[in-house]
Amino acid sequence: MKIEADSAVYKTLLESTKAIPWKLDWRTMQFAYIGPQIERVLGWSVESWVSVQDWAERIHEEDREQVVNFCISQSKEGADHEADYRALTKDGDYVWIRDVVHVVRNDAGEVEALIGFMFDISERKKTEAKLIDLQKELEALSFKDGLTGVANRRMFDSVMELEWSNARRNNRPLALIIIDIDYFKQYNDCYGHIQGDQCLQRVAKTLASAATRSRDFFARFGGEEFMLVLPETDEASAVKVAERCRNLIFKEQIAHAQSAVSQILTISMGVGAIIPTHQDSISSFIDAVDRRLYAAKQKGRNCIASDGR
Ligand code: GH3
Ligand code: MG
Ligand code: MG
Repeated sequence: MKIEADSAVYKTLLESTKAIPWKLDWRTMQFAYIGPQIERVLGWSVESWVSVQDWAERIHEEDREQVVNFCISQSKEGADHEADYRALTKDGDYVWIRDVVHVVRNDAGEVEALIGFMFDISERKKTEAKLIDLQKELEALSFKDGLTGVANRRMFDSVMELEWSNARRNNRPLALIIIDIDYFKQYNDCYGHIQGDQCLQRVAKTLASAATRSRDFFARFGGEEFMLVLPETDEASAVKVAERCRNLIFKEQIAHAQSAVSQILTISMGVGAIIPTHQDSISSFIDAVDRRLYAAKQKGRNCIASDGR
């Protein structure tokens, strides 16, 4: 009498939880039980769950083989396990299910049945997918300069690191161009900071098109300074790219009434190339190219300074 009362209690408990309980007889591979909640979640009636085949057929094609093989091998070993998969609904949609499985053995230690719970984890999966998207967006943003949309200093550091090791390993030249706008302080003073920002956007957009090879890399280094990293490029070729930069900016004809060199906006550039060895360091290479930029400023601006000149 007591046992009957208890089993009624268990049944009520099992059928009122959100998780869907089930039992599969291992010898016949037939369902001995499945909670009526299944119909609310997947739409399939309790009666339609006859054998393990019905379960396998209602797993998304892309998940099926892996999940079925995993569950069978774990069950054979007598190991409790869990699996996530997309289950087909009667309407033809899919619901993410987490199936948590316990293996029941008889006194001889043989597998007798599997009992488990299916959990609807769709919401969790949706949240996970959203978090992954946000993470990707954040990563992309953290390598992008907020004002101009080109790569930022952080990205420059990573790319430079990578290309430096490539060049050293393959014994190939790596070129760097440091670009700095002439008299930009005066530009801001004359036209205001907002127009200054717009000018930086336009300069960045223009310079980004100067280098054409797929691995050429352009970044805003900070303020009104930009960097061009040119892998597999010697100094003479890099100087040609620098000349192209100067021409592109010239063609823009951005008015700069307060510039001491011209009535239009101009840039100065330092250019260098190196086949790096273990004795060299990135920072001393950048410093060397930066000294050339300084030399270009000393020479009167609106020009390019390299090893040759
Ligand atoms: P030089 O020809 O020697 O390079 O002179 P310069 O005035 O361009 O150089 P300096 O480094 O003295 O000044 C750079 C100016 O760039 C100072 C700063 O006001 C301006 N600047 C830096 N970042 C920004 C920015 O994000 N927006 C604007 N509008 N101006 C900026
Ligand atoms: Mg500067
Ligand atoms: Mg400047």
